[in-house]
Amino acid sequence: MKNDWRLTNQIDYLSCKTLIQVPYTPYSETWTHDHCEFCSETIDETTKDAYCTEDKYHWICKDCFKDFKEMFDWRIKNN
Ligand SMILES: [Zn+2]
Repeated sequence: MKNDWRLTNQIDYLSCKTLIQVPYTPYSETWTHDHCEFCSETIDETTKDAYCTEDKYHWICKDCFKDFKEMFDWRIKNN
């Protein structure tokens, strides 16, 4: 897993973060979608089970969340 192609420098800004699971909400009104921080999959209003940081700036798809949650030690905040 350490050499996974999806890993770049996310550990610098996503390690030990609190994540929330919400329907996609654009960070800016001019944006229509975002991309997973790891695999770049498109995340938009049709995406189910995406995760984001509390400021809704960084988005993570459910597959990457599952694969990296132990490595990054994420906490999930329930609404
Ligand atoms: Zn992903």
